Amino acid sequence: MAKKTIRDIEVAGRKVLMRCDFNVPLDSCGDITDDTRILGAIPSIRHLSEHGARLILCSHLGRPAGEVKPEFSLRPVALRLGELLEREVSFVESCVGEEAISASAGLQDGELLLLENVRFHQEETDNDPGFASRLANNAEVFVNDAFGTAHRAHASTVGVGSHVNESAMGLLMERELKYLSEELRAPQRPFVIILGGKKVSDKIGVINALFDKADTILIGGAMQYAFRKAQGYSIGESYVVEEDIAIAGQLLDKARQQGVNLLLPADSLEADSFSADAATSNITPYADGGGIRDGWEGLDIGEKAIEEFCDVISNAKSIVWNGPMGVFEIDAFSRGTKAIAQAVADSDALSVIGGGDSVTAVKKFGLSQRVTFISTGGGASLELLEGKDLPGVVGLDDI
Ligand code: AMP
Repeated sequence: MAKKTIRDIEVAGRKVLMRCDFNVPLDSCGDITDDTRILGAIPSIRHLSEHGARLILCSHLGRPAGEVKPEFSLRPVALRLGELLEREVSFVESCVGEEAISASAGLQDGELLLLENVRFHQEETDNDPGFASRLANNAEVFVNDAFGTAHRAHASTVGVGSHVNESAMGLLMERELKYLSEELRAPQRPFVIILGGKKVSDKIGVINALFDKADTILIGGAMQYAFRKAQGYSIGESYVVEEDIAIAGQLLDKARQQGVNLLLPADSLEADSFSADAATSNITPYADGGGIRDGWEGLDIGEKAIEEFCDVISNAKSIVWNGPMGVFEIDAFSRGTKAIAQAVADSDALSVIGGGDSVTAVKKFGLSQRVTFISTGGGASLELLEGKDLPGVVGLDDI
């Protein structure tokens, strides 16, 4: 069922509570190191404000675990948002209670404020109805634009919906659903999914769901070693999660039975330590029944793998990428991820980067403008690709 967006609702003079995803990375001084998520909310904020809403913004930041922890305050976000909007954004030091009530009551049409971190209260993640009611604070409209937390049923993403007259999704949420759900429902072929990063178990749902859909599944990153271990190769000191090995084995069986093209890297860049100045060598350990040597660990995909993967990518018509090919944060092990990012950018396919570290990588290599869509949500984008409904969307009003 199609959901209302903020373009479908009248907001002039109405109190609107909007859940944003301002969960931005901060450095040790508390400065924001990447404001992508704040930028992502700007179109909805501008739209609502220009249409006369009295706008109350809320979000979580980090994992304060239900306690007030100043290092997770949203105050730096209010400042940054004010700079980006070129107007003052009032900040309220709590998301519920007297201060929040009086600050929101004082809002004029088109004005906005930001509430403090909703996760300073345990009731937020418990989706406590009393807390949701206090957070809603007599708002007439609820807007969910927080795609990154839409897979969580929390008070600020789901609970508040029962305490307002009308609800809708924001423009960012709408874009995320367009690319991760609608466009990929019947993808243009060949449809290639590239998975990397560390844990197979995090991505097993997506792999299973895309078995029937993708033409080729490319597996890189540390997660490849769970597959190699399941095949009986030695993986030296490479990163592997023990319980992932059995899962990987089952996926290999399933791929064989269903004739799915699940491609593992043909070679690896192995290193004698996890450091920038490690000794390295490009090895092809899987051709001769060998494996990564004892005392060595695979930290990037190798030359042949880069060539094979790039070849598949260059012929793709639809691409989804989630997870780096190697330890791209260290230059010595970033070659594979960089080459894949370049191939995705160069292809004329619809390309969707599914959140998390692959987004950081694409930005690091200066290629973010050359992909079709970059998702702001890691977990939420994976769940959507799996075909799951997102609780933060399900409860919104239907058109
Ligand atoms: P994930 O959060 O599961 O997407 O994992 C991302 C992390 O995986 C990044 O920080 C990478 O440095 C790391 N990573 C990728 N490949 C490897 C590898 N071969 N060994 C260890 N870590 C890796």
